[in-house]
Amino acid sequence: SATPLKVAVTGAAGQIGYSLLFRLASGALGDRPIELRLLEITPALKALEGVVMELDDCAFPGLAAVEIGDDAEKIFDGVNLALLVGARPRGPGMERSDLLSANGAIFTAQGKALNKVAADDVRIGVTGNPANTNALIAMTNAPDIPQQRFSALTRLDHNRAISQLAAKTGSSVNDIKKMTIWGNHSATQYPDVFHAEVGGKNAFDVVNDQAWVENDFIPTVAKRGAAIIDARGASSAASAASATCNAARDWLNGTPEGDWVSMAVVSDGSYGTPEGIVTSFPVTTKDGGWSIVQGLEINEFSRARIDASNAELVEERAAVTELGLI
Ligand code: NDP
Repeated sequence: SATPLKVAVTGAAGQIGYSLLFRLASGALGDRPIELRLLEITPALKALEGVVMELDDCAFPGLAAVEIGDDAEKIFDGVNLALLVGARPRGPGMERSDLLSANGAIFTAQGKALNKVAADDVRIGVTGNPANTNALIAMTNAPDIPQQRFSALTRLDHNRAISQLAAKTGSSVNDIKKMTIWGNHSATQYPDVFHAEVGGKNAFDVVNDQAWVENDFIPTVAKRGAAIIDARGASSAASAASATCNAARDWLNGTPEGDWVSMAVVSDGSYGTPEGIVTSFPVTTKDGGWSIVQGLEINEFSRARIDASNAELVEERAAVTELGLI
């Protein structure tokens, strides 16, 4: 049988982890067996042991092994895929610079550990927030890993946008193609319907309602996380885990013909985006690599929003540069 894919998950005892591990173990990435390597901070290891007991109790046929620990260099040893979910949440009274330095400490250390011990073919997906800048920090601290191997998650935003557009147009999510999220995984993100398709037709032509796009669609997608916290009393975890699986699966196995996905990846300057930031683009994937979809016409409305979100990322980059994290 095939050698198992070694998959690291950080923050494995957290809310997202509690959904993600079971999806991964039950085959969300494909038929190849997986080995899970679970990283947590020391105080969370006991809870993580409980989660591993539950993984054992599922008797997943495709789960070849599970290892847990609090030492990144041990857990990341030989991993082919690293899903960086654990991050320091913003606490009461915490300034943005406190948040960036707390996460900076985590993502510099994890970048260095991956650089040292990960498999040559490693791919790294960052879910923990601020995801784009955490990915930039890890990438910069892993100079021997090609920059193209790092990505931050905007797939949840992408999926939310698909779901909203399907509901608005009375269609199935399967009819929606070529959705794009541009920019930062934050309130400034720009979900773009101008290139999306509904049943093969241009989505904006189908909707034909600029007010809906501006006042309903964009804010609903961008503020969906807060709406879920409001309703559920806890942040979205299952949908974040699901999107993390979708993103990893498509990265490894390729996007379907005639469609694309959104991934935050290092910018090469495409679409006038500042080079070197980790920002979301429409991408296609093939053979484990991604390429930014080229040649889309960007209207004035989109231009302003893409630029604003990227300006926020440039500011975050300046802040972590000043903190000496990159
Ligand atoms: P969650 O599992 O709910 O979330 C983890 C991270 O994912 C947070 O940064 C969160 O950001 C982010 N995230 C991204 N998208 C979403 C989304 N749509 N909805 C919710 N969260 C999203 O957090 P928990 O606090 O339950 O668990 C975190 C775990 O990480 C803890 O067990 C902690 O011990 C661990 N940890 C591990 C580290 C390590 O392995 N070295 C380092 C730091 C923490 P946001 O905060 O903005 O919601």
